[in-house]
Amino acid sequence: MLNNDGTPKKILIVGGGTAGWMAANLLACKWKSTEICLVESKEIGIIGVGEGSTPHLKLFFDAIGVADSQWMPRCNATYKNGITFDKWSTNPGFESYFHPFAAQTDDIFTVPLFYKNIQARMQGYSVNAHPDPYFLETYLSSNNLGPLPAESFPFGIAYGYHFDSALLGQFLAEKAQSLGVKRIYGNVSEAIVKTDGCLSAVKLSDNTVLEADFFVDCSGFNALLMQKTLKVSYSSFKDNLINNAAVVIPSKIAKNLPTETKATALSNGWAWQIPLRNRFGNGYVYSSDYIDSNQAETELRQHLGLLDPNVEARHLKMKVGRVEKHWHKNCLAVGLSQGFIEPLEATALALSFNTITQFMQCFQEGKGTNLFEDAFNNDINSRFDGVRDYIVCHYKMNQRTDSAYWRDNAANSNISETLNKILTLWHNSQDFADDMHKHKLTASYQAKSWACLLAGYGTFPKLNQDSSIYYSAHQQEVEGLNDFIRRCGLNFQNHNELLTRQ
Ligand SMILES: Cc1cc2nc3c(=O)[nH]c(=O)nc-3n(C[C@H](O)[C@H](O)[C@H](O)COP(=O)(O)OP(=O)(O)OC[C@H]3O[C@@H](n4cnc5c(N)ncnc54)[C@H](O)[C@@H]3O)c2cc1C
Repeated sequence: MLNNDGTPKKILIVGGGTAGWMAANLLACKWKSTEICLVESKEIGIIGVGEGSTPHLKLFFDAIGVADSQWMPRCNATYKNGITFDKWSTNPGFESYFHPFAAQTDDIFTVPLFYKNIQARMQGYSVNAHPDPYFLETYLSSNNLGPLPAESFPFGIAYGYHFDSALLGQFLAEKAQSLGVKRIYGNVSEAIVKTDGCLSAVKLSDNTVLEADFFVDCSGFNALLMQKTLKVSYSSFKDNLINNAAVVIPSKIAKNLPTETKATALSNGWAWQIPLRNRFGNGYVYSSDYIDSNQAETELRQHLGLLDPNVEARHLKMKVGRVEKHWHKNCLAVGLSQGFIEPLEATALALSFNTITQFMQCFQEGKGTNLFEDAFNNDINSRFDGVRDYIVCHYKMNQRTDSAYWRDNAANSNISETLNKILTLWHNSQDFADDMHKHKLTASYQAKSWACLLAGYGTFPKLNQDSSIYYSAHQQEVEGLNDFIRRCGLNFQNHNELLTRQ
């Protein structure tokens, strides 16, 4: 049943993790005539990881009218300028690089020189084509500066966050309830399907029946409604993303709070380090085909220098892939129930945000019908696949030879046609960024992000040309760029001080 404005009369959200409460807030803010209930299980709880974001989380908070100062202190949140990738490449000079979020200064001033030098380096000239000098947010991160500029700074800058996921859930739950969302505790034991294949209700283990006109499946990896009940098929990414487990351990926070996530390659996967105000969140994402959970925990502890065995580790399993349809009949899947890629670029909440906002637009434009269901599903699938390709590229292009895990990842030929095209362009194009646009390959990640990754790994041919003609002009340009970025940096504050003022 629909309201006069074409929105459902009653929506039931199953699951109270970050995805469920994000959905509850967005729906309650925008669909004011809809009655919204959320049912969650105290016994099952939430996954309780997922502490880094992209700039989409800022878009989410903007959409529900919440300022940084309202939620960040409550969630021990810090600012994030991007991610350092450490030890993924063994190319001398390219052992580490930074993947920054976008700033307006990139495209206007600094990134054209990066592209120019990539091209020169591709022709064998000895120029600086490592991404780090070319991005303002890389400079901010290496100087512990937060991403909020002085008011007089005329260029926009995108930023993400690090946060305690349990506290974020609590904050969002309170906010949604203040907007009128009804919270119910209970275990969903079954979902009831009508003859037309639509859901009519869910039944709780105490036999309570919760009816609704539309259902949002946020039940995490349980995927109760979309996969278990409606039998929508699932497409696994395990052929090219082989990690399927993680071990998580907190550690003591540094005095100067970093503004970056660190992703360090280990023997059979990689470790994240996420700075919160009160602790580092750390985790080792690995493939259990190559290392067992005890070995992974020991390696993570060694990597962290964490000698105290009393600090408890949590072990998690991950299922990597996505559903074929995110919207089917009268059900939308959001969060881990719709799919998960792996946390390397911290994209899960961004995909959840895109799913919810785009669904709301399609549903209303279709006046409450399923007219735009296919277009919506195709779009969300291509977002998932675009993120997958970018993540796969980190593994495919790795330069490590120290374990079968890394050698197998580099040798893996199960890569998509799109990723193949991008790699071909990288090696052959005369103008990588322009060709990426022409071939419409920048939907999920901009050309500069691809260039950061590939140049950051040092994916270049051998030096073979006399650089002397090129060099002095190049040197002057790079010095000018360094000076420009340093001067921009004067408009930004120390991260600790910025947080203290909130
Ligand atoms: C190792 C790892 C690291 C990650 N890192 C990041 C990151 O850095 N950034 C990022 O954006 N994302 C990350 N993610 C993903 C992120 O954790 C999730 O996208 C996010 O927490 C949302 O989860 P969710 O709400 O879909 O599921 P959950 O948090 O699992 O919530 C599921 C909800 O469904 C309820 N439920 C389940 N079954 C029933 C039932 N039968 N009856 C009633 N209720 C039920 C549960 O009680 C719970 O409330 C990571 C994930 C993993 C595994």
